[in-house]
Amino acid sequence: MTGENAAVTRSAVVTGSTRGIGRAIAEALAAKGMNVCVNSSSERSLSVAQELAADLEQRFGVRAIAVAADVSQADQAKDLVQAALDEFGAVDVLVNNAGITRDGLAMRMSEEDFDQVIAVNLKGAFNCCKAVTRPMMKKRFGRMINMSSVVGIHGNAGQANYAASKAGIIGLTKALAKELASRGITVNAVAPGFIETDMTDALGEKQRAAIEERIGCGRLGAPEDIANVVAFLASEQASYVTGQVISVDGGLSL
Ligand code: NAP
Repeated sequence: MTGENAAVTRSAVVTGSTRGIGRAIAEALAAKGMNVCVNSSSERSLSVAQELAADLEQRFGVRAIAVAADVSQADQAKDLVQAALDEFGAVDVLVNNAGITRDGLAMRMSEEDFDQVIAVNLKGAFNCCKAVTRPMMKKRFGRMINMSSVVGIHGNAGQANYAASKAGIIGLTKALAKELASRGITVNAVAPGFIETDMTDALGEKQRAAIEERIGCGRLGAPEDIANVVAFLASEQASYVTGQVISVDGGLSL
């Protein structure tokens, strides 16, 4: 049997795991011996998720599936969780990683851009948490890990929608942690700083240099820097950590 606990093979759903941080998380959990449900936002990127699932099975000897689901839609979030339950018999770990940006100054931000970011980043996390709660309660075990951001703690000009969604994630995490702690389910948030992914690709040279100057570690983070912390929070060893927001930002917020 694979995994850190020879008695149990855990199964995880990682939302938005076709690329970037989500992909690194899917890999880190599979490397720990977990079965993984990889998720793409739509059928358009499903083949990428399918390739990753096949790769995880081959490299780590775990079971993996790929499911297209837009987490902002409650019925699709439910179907995503159900697909993992059908395939693995359990969802022990949920990582709410799916996220988007639609940046702009608030006075020019369209209602649609505000709503869409809240729908994916915040409501999407709620939809998935809700879908896994009953199965986790039945097993009296669960790990929910929600992706916040340094921006959800400190705010950021040009990101009113995104900052609100990521601050909302912190409230959601703490409320659920209180509701579920007695059931063996922990709920935590991770707040990344600037991480090298498609999301931060758009930064210009100047912006990048200015950011690096503010980061104590002197570099942007790698997706694996976040995945390592998520893998710990998902582990058996993290059973006494709940309702926390763990900043992983190389010292940016110090
Ligand atoms: P990314 O490279 O842009 O990848 C985003 C992922 O989310 C993709 O897999 C995408 O799937 C998926 N996604 C988007 N909308 C979705 C939806 N409606 N339903 C399901 N999946 C959806 O992003 P990233 O930089 O890795 O960021 C991952 C998470 O970390 C996000 O929550 C982000 O806010 C947070 N974060 C990132 C940074 C950073 O510096 N990068 C910093 C702080 C927090 P498709 O491929 O199908 O589009």
